[in-house]
Amino acid sequence: MIEFKNVEKYYGDFHALKNINLTFNKGEVVVVIGPSGSGKSTMLRCINGLEEISKGDLTINGLNIHDKKTNINLIRKNVGMVFQHFNLYPHKTVLENIMLAPTKVLKQSPAEAQKKAELLLDKVNMLSKKDSYPVQLSGGQQQRIAIARGLAMDPSVLLFDEPTSALDPETIEDVLDVMKKLAKEGMTMIVVTHEMGFAREVADRVVFMADGEVLEDREAGAFYED
Ligand code: ADP
Ligand code: ADP
Repeated sequence: MIEFKNVEKYYGDFHALKNINLTFNKGEVVVVIGPSGSGKSTMLRCINGLEEISKGDLTINGLNIHDKKTNINLIRKNVGMVFQHFNLYPHKTVLENIMLAPTKVLKQSPAEAQKKAELLLDKVNMLSKKDSYPVQLSGGQQQRIAIARGLAMDPSVLLFDEPTSALDPETIEDVLDVMKKLAKEGMTMIVVTHEMGFAREVADRVVFMADGEVLEDREAGAFYED
């Protein structure tokens, strides 16, 4: 459902992605690892249209992201993203954070959007905090809200960019538990993380990047054999 074909990405003269050829299939959980600066975040940002690729083809659900005729908003609707630093709106409540895109972009009625938001909050075990503001919550709680928000548009894939790297150790497990639950439900997920336990337990494939290149792309089991 997501295919990179000979994709290159430059930031000015800097070559951030080098000849990327990768396929992500429906229902797969793929963990992307590699040193800082290797292009992991750039790859995710190309998938959700936050960055443009410089060369090659990137297709998402059959839509070529590079094609001027492709509506980028259609792609963004299909691709949810969870960031390292949550990026919640500080002046909106938890419920309002989740309802924002469905009401603005999908034009859902407030009642419909709220019903969906409450279901999602229940899924991430945060329904009791629906009227709180982000600042009143721990990092782990905010990240679970961000996951619920990422799901609010019913995306076909959810991207995670180091979702636990900014968290206190005691809140990491709650976030990983939610991610494991989504994986079990068949959500397609691409996860940039240093959490090797999560990779070992949950990933179907592990992609290893270094210096803008994909050096390994293997079934998770095979990855840990050597
Ligand atoms: P990773 O997620 O693996 O840490 P990134 O994709 O964030 O790597 O970055 C890859 C390289 O591209 C880094 O050297 C980074 O400094 C550079 N880079 C990322 N974003 C930009 C940008 N907007 N402009 C210029 N260089 C960038
Ligand atoms: P995070 O740690 O949250 O992933 P980063 O510090 O990697 O965020 O990047 C934050 C922003 O800065 C991104 O939008 C990225 O594109 C931009 N950026 C990263 N590296 C560079 C760079 N070398 N030059 C310009 N912009 C950069």
